[in-house]
Amino acid sequence: MYNYKLSLEYAQQQDQEDPLNSYRSQFHLPKDNLGNPLIYMTGNSLGLQPKTTKTAVNQELEDWANLGVEGHFEAKNPWLPYHEFLTESMAHVVGAKPIEVIVMNTLTANLHFMMVSFYQPTKERYKILIESDAFPSDKYAVESQLRHHGYDDKDGVVLWKPRPGEDLLRYEDLETILEEQGDQIALIMIGGINYYTGQFFDLKRITNLGHKSGCKVGFDCAHGAGNVALNLHDSGADFAVWCTYKYLNAGPGSLAGCFVHERHANNKALNRFTGWWSHNKKTRFNMRGEFDQLPGAEGWQLSNPPILSMAAIKASLDIFSKVGIENLVNKSKKLTAYFEYLLKQLGDDTISIITPSNPDERGCQLSIQVKNADKVLHDKLTKTGVISDWREPDVIRCAPVPLYNSFEDVYRLVEKLKGILNE
Ligand SMILES: *Cc1c(COP(=O)(O)O)cnc(C)c1O
Repeated sequence: MYNYKLSLEYAQQQDQEDPLNSYRSQFHLPKDNLGNPLIYMTGNSLGLQPKTTKTAVNQELEDWANLGVEGHFEAKNPWLPYHEFLTESMAHVVGAKPIEVIVMNTLTANLHFMMVSFYQPTKERYKILIESDAFPSDKYAVESQLRHHGYDDKDGVVLWKPRPGEDLLRYEDLETILEEQGDQIALIMIGGINYYTGQFFDLKRITNLGHKSGCKVGFDCAHGAGNVALNLHDSGADFAVWCTYKYLNAGPGSLAGCFVHERHANNKALNRFTGWWSHNKKTRFNMRGEFDQLPGAEGWQLSNPPILSMAAIKASLDIFSKVGIENLVNKSKKLTAYFEYLLKQLGDDTISIITPSNPDERGCQLSIQVKNADKVLHDKLTKTGVISDWREPDVIRCAPVPLYNSFEDVYRLVEKLKGILNE
């Protein structure tokens, strides 16, 4: 599709022609002891810090120092409605309507709160279907929900597995599972992009299949938000959750996102855990009235949120609003395809890419499987100034992030890998 060439000059020329190349300088790039920037390939684990974050957080610290409690109303960005400043841009990032999106809590916590509402097991229909290589936290969360409702966590988990000798999941196999036991499955909960293989699932297809069998469908989009066009609203999923510290660059452990489809926005009968922040904003501070449920995703909030973390999210989302997720995805596809091209040019059969080769079935991450490898290869790569991620037993994950990684980064990374493989 692209006409790539194998030289440093070509990579640098691509960077010059890249319409998004100015964004790299808006981030702090980690450096080695000598002050040289490292090749950072782990934005899928912890995104880099935008240079605007410090100012945004300092603004709230200053308003707190100067205003105390009055900051709820008088701060430059008043704290009381602060989460509303994030909603529209976050909704755009994940392809949702503002009423469907809320920033709150942390990721696994949101997953549990969503299951309180969308995992309503009965004696006949109580199982939860997840992908066999789900992120451990998701697996633990799902198992504990089963136990919480009094079900066996072995019998109750249905795994969607790759076929023997394969790494990726096939939709035909999901269809077969649903044909055989769809009427026992209460919830389908899949990682929208698998953290290990980088496979980006067709959320709409999975949702349709699930709904046809009478299951609720939710996605953990931790590896999707800020990385691919998720189109959550159009997917029809009942809910989705994601974090903001990976591709959304909002800082370690920052608050998470949550999507509840519009069709549930006014359903007060839906079971949920509530707090004063799920209550009607207009009467929240009367403090003594009956509970009055807020409509939309906001109605799942519990607490007044941590503003310092939200300030970092706001700084980051402002960048996403300027770039536009569509432009970002365009660059991402080109950059990752270049990475793939360079890896293939190595012609080394000790390495293979397990991530799908179809650009629509992946984000920016490529998972590289190394034959008979142990962690030594990864450690050597680290010594050459590459920050990548090793997953047992034999996979290196590299995520060239279109906001701050360059074609030159990718070129240099593959050159270093080549040097190590040829040793
Ligand atoms: C990163 C990630 C998590 C981490 O959960 P936290 O609650 O943020 O610690 C969970 N699930 C998936 C799929 C992830 O990628």
